[in-house]
Amino acid sequence: MTRTAGGAGTTPPSPHMALLREGAERLRAADPALAGLLDSELADQCSTLAMVASSSAADPSVLAAAGAVLSNVTAEGYPGARYHPGSACFDEVERLAEARARTVFGARYANVQPHSCSSANLSVLTSLLPPGGVLLGLGLDEGGHLTHGSSASVTGHLFHAVHYGLDEHGLIDYDGVLRLAREHRPRVIVAGASAYPRRIDFARFRAVADDVGAYLLADISHIAGLVASGEHPSPLDLAHVTTTSTYKQLGGPRGGLILVGAEHRTPGPDGHTGLADLMRRAVFPRSQGTPNPAAIAAKARALGMLGTEEARWTARMIVEDARALAEGLAGRGHRLLTGGTDNHMVVVDLRPARISGLVAERALEECGILANRNRVPGDSRPPAVAGGLRLGTNILAQRGMGPAEMADCVDLIDRILTAVVSVDDTTYTLDPQLCRRARAEVRELCGRFPLPGYPAATLRTGSEVSL
Ligand SMILES: *Cc1c(COP(=O)(O)O)cnc(C)c1O
Repeated sequence: MTRTAGGAGTTPPSPHMALLREGAERLRAADPALAGLLDSELADQCSTLAMVASSSAADPSVLAAAGAVLSNVTAEGYPGARYHPGSACFDEVERLAEARARTVFGARYANVQPHSCSSANLSVLTSLLPPGGVLLGLGLDEGGHLTHGSSASVTGHLFHAVHYGLDEHGLIDYDGVLRLAREHRPRVIVAGASAYPRRIDFARFRAVADDVGAYLLADISHIAGLVASGEHPSPLDLAHVTTTSTYKQLGGPRGGLILVGAEHRTPGPDGHTGLADLMRRAVFPRSQGTPNPAAIAAKARALGMLGTEEARWTARMIVEDARALAEGLAGRGHRLLTGGTDNHMVVVDLRPARISGLVAERALEECGILANRNRVPGDSRPPAVAGGLRLGTNILAQRGMGPAEMADCVDLIDRILTAVVSVDDTTYTLDPQLCRRARAEVRELCGRFPLPGYPAATLRTGSEVSL
């Protein structure tokens, strides 16, 4: 693979580059405590296997754009229609981000201002539903997201939320979705998940929405990279509105997007405002104030990298890696939700292994592997402890690891989970020698597959982590 970005020193200096360098140098000189923490964070990221399914690594050019001088621009409104002066460059940057989002996802309308996908979902839901309106979404314990009407979220209080679930194979119960829709007549149906390792049949959701006259919101927060690269069917023209995070699988900054496809002129609840216009107002002025111009520049950069051959290769590898990881773990006797995966995610039901999600998460972290605890259907443990573990392959694939390296990961994870001795749901013991050895293997693997553009060096300066 050829990298076109080039390393430091290969491009002629520009004033903005000089400013960023000046900033980095001032930070180190004036605030060594903070600068030191950032160096430690970088060292940690370079030397750990990050398998948190909701994360990806931003290219250094995305990080540079996120630190852009645009941060100084205050400009409410949209390009060409701001409520402040001085936004000429930002207008062009936002237009660029919008155009790239439309191209990458085949959308007719893109709003790049949401500060997060939670914020995007709130904007969409409050514009399509009146207070107390009926919302149908996947239950939190079945893999749904808080913003899909959970009682722990404001969406569960603002709206009357009804939840569909999974069938006995752990797959979305589409017949149940139709039954609940006919019974409760939702105005909005949400299709999307935070912990669901299989393809989502957006056409089937749309058929249900049409059956009851509901709007369909596709929340592709977790799978946006696969959708952009064609590794997961796109909901863009099936859903009325689509939302996503920009950091989970898009290698972008913290933030969200709202996208509208074929339904861009379909009227909203007032009977005449088209969905694209409605979404424009839904973000500003209805639910957000000023946009974050530097984050939008970083979104533009990340979106610009998505159409490349390299991005398509990474998306393919994400799926292949997840499949290899699932097969390997299942082969070692671990119980997986749905028995496998079609996307980037593998969810392990730890209940047969008699350890909690929290214990598994901590034991793995001690060995340099990051994966988070997750509730599984029928879980009796509270969310902070949980009975499952969610793994993802986004960053492993970004590092260039393939199925052969997944065998190493399976071996590491299996060894650690088998060796951990649970005292109770929150306390455990782990053989220090096994831990030290696993940590060294993780480091070696990370050293062989550095994140593109990131330093390969994995040794912490100063205090080496002692285990
Ligand atoms: C993570 C997630 C969100 C929220 O995204 P943030 O950008 O973290 O606010 C929304 N929906 C789904 C399905 C998610 O997984």
